[in-house]
Amino acid sequence: MTMKTRKELACPKCSHKQEVMVWSTVNSMDKEASQLVRDMKLNIFHCEGCGSDAFIDENVLYHDMEHKYLVQYVSLGAFGNEDFYKRITKRGTLVMDPISTGILELTEGDYFKNPHYVFSTREMAAYIVFRELCAEWGAD
Ligand SMILES: [Zn+2]
Repeated sequence: MTMKTRKELACPKCSHKQEVMVWSTVNSMDKEASQLVRDMKLNIFHCEGCGSDAFIDENVLYHDMEHKYLVQYVSLGAFGNEDFYKRITKRGTLVMDPISTGILELTEGDYFKNPHYVFSTREMAAYIVFRELCAEWGAD
């Protein structure tokens, strides 16, 4: 599932306020959003006032159901924030609630607990392309 919300943000350069789409989850089936991730254009604030671009530093989870992997972009804000780590175990896997665990057992989705963490949008785009090449050229 793709999740996005409209937010009113102010331009960091000129303070012009406008509504922008902020993405928090991107499903690989959503071709448009998926392409934005690859082009490193997701969560970019393009100011209608002064024309400058600014990066909106939000956590983004990329989910590829077909190839069964998750990529979690950890925003700068989340990186040093204790609250973010409440969802993560000491081994770096995700904390799952009992309902999700039940669903996951049915859908053979162990990968759900083990997202690949990235710390830049460039790394996120590169990892997605890497996994596509693995799917195409990798051994069975
Ligand atoms: Zn501006």
